[in-house]
Amino acid sequence: MALTAEQLDRLSIALVSMYEAAELAMLERIAHSLASGIAAPDWQLTKLNELQLLIGRERRLLADLAGLSSREIADAIMKAYNLGQASAMASTAMAANGPSAASVASAMRVRALVAEATMGIVGSHGRILRSFEDIYRTVIADASGVAMLGVETRRQAAQRALDRFANQGVVGFTDRLGRQWEARSYVEMSMRTTIHKASIQGHVDRLQQRGHDLVIVSDHSQECELCRPWEGKVLSISGIRHVEVRTAGTLAEAEAAGLFHPGCRHTIGAYFPGVTEAPTRTADPEGDAARQEQRRLERGVRAWKRRDAASLTPEAKRQAHAKAREWAQRLREWEASHDLKHQGFRSSVSAAR
Ligand SMILES: [Zn+2]
Repeated sequence: MALTAEQLDRLSIALVSMYEAAELAMLERIAHSLASGIAAPDWQLTKLNELQLLIGRERRLLADLAGLSSREIADAIMKAYNLGQASAMASTAMAANGPSAASVASAMRVRALVAEATMGIVGSHGRILRSFEDIYRTVIADASGVAMLGVETRRQAAQRALDRFANQGVVGFTDRLGRQWEARSYVEMSMRTTIHKASIQGHVDRLQQRGHDLVIVSDHSQECELCRPWEGKVLSISGIRHVEVRTAGTLAEAEAAGLFHPGCRHTIGAYFPGVTEAPTRTADPEGDAARQEQRRLERGVRAWKRRDAASLTPEAKRQAHAKAREWAQRLREWEASHDLKHQGFRSSVSAAR
C-alpha cells in the first residue's frame, strides 16, 4: 500500500509549526505594542500613528516567511512523491535500484501540485496582513470607548477584544466554501490534500515503470462518502484490458468520480490477482468519536496558547498559560484512557514560560 495518512501528515509538521509560530508571534507583537503607554491620555492617537510602521514590519516578516514556506512546501511534496515511489518498490518486492527518472508528464503534475499549494498558502499572506490591521484597529476602538472610565477599564476592554480574536484564531482563513480556519488548520488541510496526491502519483509512476498495471483501493476507517464505492475495488492505471481480473475502471475514472477528494484518507496498493487479499471492512465509529474529542482538546490547548500570546498583563499571561497546561493535561488523560497516540506537535505547551 502507499503511505498512510499519518505517515504523510508528518511531512508537513515543519510547515504547519511555522505558521502556528507566526500566528502566535503576531499576536504577541500586537499585545506588546498596544500595552505600551496604555495609561497615557493620548494612547489611542499614538497607537494609530504607529500603525503604518507596524504594518511595514509585518509585511517584511511575511515576505521572509513566504521564502521559507515556499521551500518547505516544495520539499514536503517532493518527499511525498519519493516516498510514494519507495512504497511501490516495497510492494512489488523488487530490488531497489534508486530513484529513477519520472516521466515528463508526472514531473509536470508534481510541479503543478507544488504551485497549487504554494499559491494557496503563500497567497494567504495578504489576508494575514489585513487581519493584523483589523485586530489592531478593533482593539483600539473597543478600548477607546471606555477611556473616560480610567486606565484599568481601558486595559480590560482591550484584553477582552484581543481575547476574542485569540479564541477564534487570528488569521481567519476562509476556504472556497466560506468556512473559517485558524492558520495552522488551513495550512494542514491544504498540505494534506496535496501531499496525498503527490504520494499517490509517485506510487503509480513507479508501478508503471515496473510494468505493473493493477491497483486496489484501501478500505479506510474514516469513511468518506465519495470513496465508499471504490473501497476494495481493483483499478487499472493504464486502462488496458485484463482477462484474469475484473476491474472497476481506471484510476483516472475513479479520481474523476471523487476518489482522493480533498481531505481523503484513502490510498492504493499494487494488486496481484490471486495473491492480494481485498481489505476488510474497518468501520470504527468509537475510534472516530475518540479522535474527534482528541482534536477538540487539541484546539482548546491552541486557543489558550493564543490567549497567552495576546496577554496585555503578566497576570493575564499567567492565567492563560495555566489554562493551556490544564487543557494539555486533559488531552493527555483522554489519550491515555482511549489508547490514542499523542501527537505532540499539535498541542505542545512549553513549560518554561
Ligand atoms: Zn476518501
